[in-house]
Amino acid sequence: MTGTSLRVSVDRDRCVGTGGCVFAAEEVFDQNDEDGRVVLRTEYPGPDLAEAVRQAVDVCPVYAIALAEKENGR
Ligand code: SF4
Repeated sequence: MTGTSLRVSVDRDRCVGTGGCVFAAEEVFDQNDEDGRVVLRTEYPGPDLAEAVRQAVDVCPVYAIALAEKENGR
């Protein structure tokens, strides 16, 4: 069986704390209580969260979220 796994990274320096990513995928993103900037909850979200993570990337106004995709399988 093959599939694609995602690796998520965030740039907190770039983040302006809109919370859009949290709204799109609260399982993956959170906001720091102090500065409101993004906190990554999981670097490797499962395939069931891929769509939500892509939405988070789309709504981020400052391109602070990056995705790397890795093909699984052999
Ligand atoms: S959507 Fe972008 S700017 Fe907004 S909190 Fe998330 S990472 Fe930060």
